[in-house]
Amino acid sequence: MMPTNDILALGLGLMGPWKIVDQHLDLDKEPHELHIRVEADRGATYPCPECGKPCKAHDFKEFTWRHLNFFQHHCYLTAAVPRVKCEKHGYPRVQVPWARKGSRFTLLFEQVAMMLVREMPVLGAARMMAITDRSLWRVVHHYVSQAMESLDLSDLEAVGLDETASKRGHNYVTVFIDLDRPTKPVIFAIPGRGKACLKAFKAHLRQHGGHAEKVAEVVCDMSNAFMTAVGEHFKNAAITVDWFHVVSLFTNALDEVRRSERRPASFPRSLCWAVLKGRETGKTDAQTQALLELENSGFATATAYRLKELLRWIRAADTPQAAKWRTTHFIRHAEEQIGDNPLLNPVRTSLNTLKEYAERITRRWLSGHTNARLEGLNGLFQAARARARGYRNEKTFITMIYLIAAPIGHILGTSKA
Ligand SMILES: [Zn+2]
Repeated sequence: MMPTNDILALGLGLMGPWKIVDQHLDLDKEPHELHIRVEADRGATYPCPECGKPCKAHDFKEFTWRHLNFFQHHCYLTAAVPRVKCEKHGYPRVQVPWARKGSRFTLLFEQVAMMLVREMPVLGAARMMAITDRSLWRVVHHYVSQAMESLDLSDLEAVGLDETASKRGHNYVTVFIDLDRPTKPVIFAIPGRGKACLKAFKAHLRQHGGHAEKVAEVVCDMSNAFMTAVGEHFKNAAITVDWFHVVSLFTNALDEVRRSERRPASFPRSLCWAVLKGRETGKTDAQTQALLELENSGFATATAYRLKELLRWIRAADTPQAAKWRTTHFIRHAEEQIGDNPLLNPVRTSLNTLKEYAERITRRWLSGHTNARLEGLNGLFQAARARARGYRNEKTFITMIYLIAAPIGHILGTSKA
């Protein structure tokens, strides 16, 4: 039969000169703790962490790492780790094979932790492994940023981007996706919004073998300053406005009109939800009834609603020509409907924006890139927020976005000790 020490050594992946010299179960602690002591053979030499040359130990310092539970017992590994004496590099501390530099956990422990956080919120994974979420986040940040370093963007030709808040209403984060990647499309995320993010993305692209001149299309929302910046940094890129942004433009205008219009007695409370939900989604009978009344009434809210719904008619166009024709007619029709009603000012503003960007908007019918991709980002943002719950800031939010949706599938396999 194999001696116990050898079994434990196998489980740790220990190799010479390191071996287990002692182990004991501390029954006073709850849960019980298994302590394993590791030492190197006497007189052993250690590779210098800088040059790899075998060197003698200069002095030792004791370190302890948390290891995977041994059944229900928490398990700790302790070793006296030497500094070597290298002629060239002075007295560097030796790198142990079972843990990464600076970590208080063994590699196996971290691997299991990373497996868990791919499936569940970090807070839950931390509880399961009986460590603080803060220390687990340190592990997650390390592996995710290491994996992101090896991202290859040399083929990047089409980029979509969108911004979102890590928390409701503040701390914006801008996310860039590769429109040619069918899955795991996120290639960059950065705190903030606007032009500065674009500049940072260009630098990121260069660091990862990409070329700004190769980018032929950028899909974004309607901001003049931003589009100018796209033109400056990505000279060969055509700019397409996401349809999704057109719809939210008119949805927000509708909401503004509804709020400013005095509510007659016949305007039920359920109306606001019904209006925002749009036509297809499930509605209660009361909501359906309210919508019918609204559509047949002369209220400004009704006009704003009908115009928002009419966007679907443009969206359904089959060809770029048809889309252009429908857009022109939509604009003319909307102008007639709006007239000089001051209550409809928000819709007028939206319409002016639509007019200004009509060409970039109808470009989506020419583009080979469907912008359903950007719409899908909302689901990703929600998932990332949930997974970073309890300890959410821009950094944890971005790390979670990468973990869920960046093309870094082999995080665990590529870890360097
Ligand atoms: Zn050396």
